Amino acid sequence: MTQLERLEIERNVAAVREKIAAAAIRAGKQPEDIMLVAATKMNDAERVQAAIQAGIDVCGENRVQELLGKYEEHAYDGAPLHFIGTLQSNKVKYLIGKVDLIQSVSSVKLAKMIDKEARKAGICQNILLEVNIGREEAKLGIDPDEIEQTIGEISGLDAIRVCGLMAIPPKPSENQESTYYFERMWNLFIDISDKKYDNVSMNYLSMGMSADFEQAIACGANIVRLGTVIFGARHY
Ligand SMILES: *Cc1c(COP(=O)(O)O)cnc(C)c1O
Repeated sequence: MTQLERLEIERNVAAVREKIAAAAIRAGKQPEDIMLVAATKMNDAERVQAAIQAGIDVCGENRVQELLGKYEEHAYDGAPLHFIGTLQSNKVKYLIGKVDLIQSVSSVKLAKMIDKEARKAGICQNILLEVNIGREEAKLGIDPDEIEQTIGEISGLDAIRVCGLMAIPPKPSENQESTYYFERMWNLFIDISDKKYDNVSMNYLSMGMSADFEQAIACGANIVRLGTVIFGARHY
């Protein structure tokens, strides 16, 4: 990577930090209350290291294969690592011991597999439950009406700990407020917090990406996952 690309990542992280800080303060929080996860997909180890040096809090990776390759290359050294993408049950074993938080747990089946593998490894794995807040056919995630039932089914598993909720909401339609789905997520988050389930703590609400992270923070997000505004556009 060139020195210029490194500088650009540095500048991007600094700019995004300022926006996060301002949004946090508007929401009655401190800047450090918001966790900045860099969505590192398609960025190589060197670029990920540049982002870590520029001061992101956490790396978030989407694909198990890509994560394992970059892990070998020490891409994530110096920052915690979260898994934020689609996860198949048979790949869970590769993540245990490498990731601090699996943000994208979208079914009871997956939660049970994580519990099983974490138990084998003698650890407790922190997870977030991914909610399909827009009930979109093409997206994974737990239906908002089934989230409490899901929690009931997994709260007895003691090698996982539910630490909050994650969502990738649809873009609101023209006659909806731009914060429509973020507000629905906040309400769900508060409802669940109030019920005080065993083994469940609603510490984290992960929502907001490059296009809408300030709105997400305004609605209560304390984890934002940012790719484009840190690394530039991805070239698929
Ligand atoms: C890629 C990705 C992001 C970041 O997307 P940007 O729009 O580039 O900020 C956030 N969350 C998940 C789950 C992603 O896959």
